[in-house]
Amino acid sequence: MRTLITGGAGFIGSHLCDRFIQEGHEVICLDNFITGNRDNVAHLLDHPKFRVIVHDISNPIEIPDLIDNVLHFASPASPVDYLEHPIPTMKVGALGTHVSLGLAKRHKARYFLASTSEIYGDPLVHPQTESYWGNVNTIGPRSVYDEAKRFAEAMTMAYHRQHKVDTHIIRIFNTYGPRMQLNDGRVVPNFMYQALRGEPMTIFGDGSQTRSFCYVSDLVEGIYRLLFKDYHEPVNLGNPSEVTIREFAEEIKALAGSKSEIVYRPLPQDDPKQRKPDIARARQVLGWEPVVDRAEGLKKTMAYFHERMTRTGKL
Ligand code: UDP
Repeated sequence: MRTLITGGAGFIGSHLCDRFIQEGHEVICLDNFITGNRDNVAHLLDHPKFRVIVHDISNPIEIPDLIDNVLHFASPASPVDYLEHPIPTMKVGALGTHVSLGLAKRHKARYFLASTSEIYGDPLVHPQTESYWGNVNTIGPRSVYDEAKRFAEAMTMAYHRQHKVDTHIIRIFNTYGPRMQLNDGRVVPNFMYQALRGEPMTIFGDGSQTRSFCYVSDLVEGIYRLLFKDYHEPVNLGNPSEVTIREFAEEIKALAGSKSEIVYRPLPQDDPKQRKPDIARARQVLGWEPVVDRAEGLKKTMAYFHERMTRTGKL
């Protein structure tokens, strides 16, 4: 099988490249490197079944070799990144989804869309089930990501209904692990960087907002299972273990054995107050649930950041 992964050099994309190579696929990693990083796939570059195409999937592309699977994971995905690149974020979610769906249609390939819990906005239903339609501010700073992904889901269902493309949609809840970018502004790299350096740990707002963190290997397992199912509705993938951001800061501080002080900063606009996936559908359709708990996942992730920061002179 030949599998094309857009955003293949990103955090989640690169873990998918690893998994599909392990499964014996030929993998085409397509990335324009606006937030992706060559280091994430450096270990695969000499593999005979792996290649990189540098391209922005918002623009049309022809791939001569027949492709069996198209996975669309390209997008800036952290609030800081999509605020810095608002128009590329909208383009890759909208035009990039159209182009990648077109590729899947042409190649008669399976299609897989990385959607997001952000489509639920600041949710009024808790935990979030797939049947909830969400509460998104259409013109707020996060809307470039949220609305592009909502459009992407609609476009994917249109290709499924009109062109019978074998599509799959997941809604990814906060996911963490090795290969997150240290400077992407998300809470896991921020807190780990700050705790390891003994710098103040920045809680936005009063820290009572909640998130539910999923380790990347669990997410990848769910993705791999769904790709081969005859199931086309969106599926939440995430770890339902919910934590306040204040508790989360304390956990990371303790794990690092850090003396960092905890400081409070203004809450960004439209920051969701609570987030927790209802994963009943994933359990039922995929027989899937997360197996890596937060203590174990955070330990592995901290080891990664520690090594990386040491190597780059930040520790
Ligand atoms: N956050 C924080 N301090 C930081 C970075 C993030 O308190 O240094 C908070 C942020 O306001 C949000 C949560 O942590 O409530 C998760 O933020 P992240 O950017 O990781 O992703 P989000 O879930 O908001 O997309």
